[in-house]
Amino acid sequence: MIYRDIIIVGGGASGMMCAIKAKENSPQKSVAILEKQGRIGRKLLSTGNGRCNLCNEQCSKSDFHGSFAEYFDKFAENVPPKKIIDEFFSLGLLTKTEAEGRIYPISNHASSVLDVLRYRLEFLGIEIICETTVKNIKKIKGNFEIITDDKKFYCEKLVIATGSPASPKLGGTENGLNFLKTLGHKVCKFYPALSPIKVKSDILTSLKGLRVQGKVSLFDGKKLVREEKGEIQFAEKALSGICVFNLSTYLNKVENPYLKVNLMPDFSENLLKEILNKNKKIFSDRTLEDYFTGIFQKKLGIALFKTAEIYPLSRKVSSLEENEINKLTSIIRNWEFQAYKDNDFSKSQACAGGVIGKEINTLTMESKIVKNLYILGECVDIVGDCGGYNLYFAFASGIIAGENL
Ligand SMILES: Cc1cc2nc3c(=O)[nH]c(=O)nc-3n(C[C@H](O)[C@H](O)[C@H](O)COP(=O)(O)OP(=O)(O)OC[C@H]3O[C@@H](n4cnc5c(N)ncnc54)[C@H](O)[C@@H]3O)c2cc1C
Repeated sequence: MIYRDIIIVGGGASGMMCAIKAKENSPQKSVAILEKQGRIGRKLLSTGNGRCNLCNEQCSKSDFHGSFAEYFDKFAENVPPKKIIDEFFSLGLLTKTEAEGRIYPISNHASSVLDVLRYRLEFLGIEIICETTVKNIKKIKGNFEIITDDKKFYCEKLVIATGSPASPKLGGTENGLNFLKTLGHKVCKFYPALSPIKVKSDILTSLKGLRVQGKVSLFDGKKLVREEKGEIQFAEKALSGICVFNLSTYLNKVENPYLKVNLMPDFSENLLKEILNKNKKIFSDRTLEDYFTGIFQKKLGIALFKTAEIYPLSRKVSSLEENEINKLTSIIRNWEFQAYKDNDFSKSQACAGGVIGKEINTLTMESKIVKNLYILGECVDIVGDCGGYNLYFAFASGIIAGENL
């Protein structure tokens, strides 16, 4: 029989931080992390394009979604973003703040974040048991029994920090929710968040990789659900970029999803028409391919003509008629794409869903259903927007649980 006082299932962002705080808080207790992959913190290394946007200077309820977001203010009172930054400072990590309050390591490398966590875990003598996939968990006479392929572990206090199925290649699984359901919790099914949104369009293939600034609005039929401004990235059969990522979190709740892209959100309709009429004069002797010179990349201009069904591109710019300029204006301001919901976790950075907020003690992250059970990170029904909010929540929930174990 292998017994440890505290066992943490999942060696990701929340699990590592929780182990450190638990051992610092109760040095006499034995603490072990069970991790299914060959090493801990693999997902962390890929965050923020390898730079790890580990927190945001300003985290508020409106940056989060899901049933636990209701309790966010109370939760964050005990662990504001500054506490995360201070905690990392005490582990040896220097950080810097970039646009929109995003916090990164000063080294610009996610490996620095992982290394300071790993070194502290080692220093504290925390046992890290890798290549160990937890298959089942039972509560037996006040202790937990944790079953892996070839072993049984027992502990008094159990932490579930197995994350979500987002990015399965980096270790994402939905195992945690299954364990928590079996132990008696109500859970909201995981669905992908912070991911590209698939759309129906043959035109996008030619725009693959192109990035523009603009506004994207998500509609449910005719009803506006939410809009976001920022970078839009075109993919072969999808729209991507930070603003689309943020909208994807809402997709699951939408029946008939549509995206509308405004490529020039800071220009009124009249001003845009004026500019397009001006271009008609300036580039009058050129072909339509050159019409958007000075505004958009050529391939985007061509895609706009195709969408407006204005042909052939060998026509002279001077031949554009008023109704055609009106049509182009309308597409630039309201380029419509029918969107699709799917359950593709492969490109999602996070998941919505998890254990419902009211079943977790906000001040300790202990389950209100099962004594001595703690639930962290993405296993909780809360998901943040892009900007360091999800790692904030992972680290913050790890700190709170660790201090209370
Ligand atoms: C590509 C990418 C980029 C991202 N960039 C950012 C960013 O810049 N900023 C930000 O805030 N967020 C970012 N995120 C989101 C962020 O990484 C997650 O929200 C965060 O890691 C969640 O922490 P966690 O501890 O809940 O889960 P994880 O960090 O995913 O850790 C869960 C761990 O549990 C292990 N595990 C799972 N099942 C089992 C099992 N049955 N037995 C044993 N171990 C198991 C997994 O292998 C994993 O190591 C990004 C995500 C991705 C995929």
